[in-house]
Amino acid sequence: GDAFLSVRDLYVHFATEDGTVKAVDGLSFDLERGSTLGIVGESGSGKSVTNLSILGLHNPSSTEVSGEILLDGQELTGAREKTLESLRGNKMAMIFQDALTALSPYYTIGRQIAEPYRKHMGVSKREAHLRAIEMLDKVGIPNPKTRVNDYPHQFSGGMRQRAMIAMALVCNPDLLIADEPTTALDVTVQAQILDLLKDLQQEFGSAIIFITHDLGVIANVADDILVMYGGRAVERGSVGEVLRRPQHPYTWGLLTSMPRLSGDVNEALSPIHGTPPSLLAPPPGCPFHPRCTFVDEVTGGLSCDSDRPPLPEGRGAACHLTAEQKRTFFVEQIKPR
Ligand code: SF4
Ligand code: MG
Repeated sequence: GDAFLSVRDLYVHFATEDGTVKAVDGLSFDLERGSTLGIVGESGSGKSVTNLSILGLHNPSSTEVSGEILLDGQELTGAREKTLESLRGNKMAMIFQDALTALSPYYTIGRQIAEPYRKHMGVSKREAHLRAIEMLDKVGIPNPKTRVNDYPHQFSGGMRQRAMIAMALVCNPDLLIADEPTTALDVTVQAQILDLLKDLQQEFGSAIIFITHDLGVIANVADDILVMYGGRAVERGSVGEVLRRPQHPYTWGLLTSMPRLSGDVNEALSPIHGTPPSLLAPPPGCPFHPRCTFVDEVTGGLSCDSDRPPLPEGRGAACHLTAEQKRTFFVEQIKPR
């Protein structure tokens, strides 16, 4: 169907004293209305930068963005700051790992939820205040009529995360970007917040981009997965496909280094050895080749250190291994001996 968000050939390059950082290097993906895309990768994989580009939150003087970001038919890459500002908080909103970066310590929680609502919906202060109470109730804050007047420091970490979600959803955005929203929380609160997000998605119908380094979290919340490595997408597919039949050696590494799976896993695969690629001087060919243990298996005259494997449209992985090798190697590695 028609994608609600369509990203095409996105490049995000930063000028630094040491040279050009290629944070995102030719990325394409689609997001359907109301669905959840999990973007997974290590830090430096480009997953956060991608989403800051969608929101138009880069410093334009040192950042070069090219390609296409179409949100509901509207082009965002060349959009003016005024346009982006009217979209942020309204059509698209973001929740962060640390609520304290989103919430100001100087204003009450209620005011911070009410303010964007008033600004974008043009309602009265009183109406916006009532809406803030309603939103706090929706995200499970007890005694919302009282707590609406609290300051962020009067909330626990989990409650602040809930308040930030209330703030993000108050204008009923079509797109919610959640960047590691539960990483800083303990496991129980993390599970509660994920459940809350799923419930609210049902109610609000927002599409969600969920950014994380944790495939376990993705398994719980996402419909589709995009695996990023070195500023590029290396694998994509439905959650079931990618978790059950992963095709890219990097995804194999991510999966087998998950604590829950690694009990009966061949140690040679887990964890992924080596370091993430330099974004100043990305490796030629496949960006994963310096860490990949399958380079010698590649046939057909292709070379991992010079030929760049393309990522197919739809389901697939950017890797030179044959379809048969992609099917069998992972299974062979995780088979209990
Ligand atoms: Fe490994 Fe080569 Fe596949 Fe890259 S293309 S993941 S280096 S086998
Ligand atoms: Mg990040």
